[in-house]
Amino acid sequence: MSDSSTQLKRLVIASGNAGKIKEFRSYLADLGVDLIAKPDDIDVEETGSTFIENAHLKASQVAIATQEWSIADDSGLEIMALNGAPGVMSARYAETDQTRINRVLQELTDADNREAQFVCAIAIASPDGAIAADAIGICKGEICESPRGEGGFGYDPIFLVTELQQTFGEILPEVKAKISHRAKALAILRSKLETLVESHYSA
Ligand code: IMP
Repeated sequence: MSDSSTQLKRLVIASGNAGKIKEFRSYLADLGVDLIAKPDDIDVEETGSTFIENAHLKASQVAIATQEWSIADDSGLEIMALNGAPGVMSARYAETDQTRINRVLQELTDADNREAQFVCAIAIASPDGAIAADAIGICKGEICESPRGEGGFGYDPIFLVTELQQTFGEILPEVKAKISHRAKALAILRSKLETLVESHYSA
């Protein structure tokens, strides 16, 4: 039993990225809590040097600012031939999704090794900002020669899932929901999250 101030009936998604918010909502639809997007005026500076540090920062600061439970992910693309870039700079690698993709393809022009992985760190914070749970998920693949597919968001059209020979832009959302870095991190967090909801929920 929890006091009313820490009840977990609503979870604020600490992201302004519409693609991520959509995925969180669909992955956690059956959790029995309201999943709400963070207010636009709360902005957290991503000063960490790792995905997990940034996920902690975003979850904690949004929880404190809203006085609600918060879930945050920090995610990005690591490319082996670029020594892990764009990494935590994935969202800031260029101005738009299109120019970010162009930059990556241009930087890989002469690369023999096109191996890459998407990484996702997720953290959940209670309304006082304390981290209640976290997890990391990784999805391995490679960067294809040119964009393929209209689905997904961000770098999806150039991220090829080797065993399917399809990009994240081409596969169905329900397939991405099984194999993606975000899905894997959430699968690890799932039981912890259910326990948190049970122990912090009273009618
Ligand atoms: P963040 O908001 O700092 O975590 O930014 C993550 C960035 O990484 C996004 O803006 C995308 O560019 C990229 N990214 C993360 N996850 C995905 C994904 O599932 N598909 C495509 N791009 C992604």
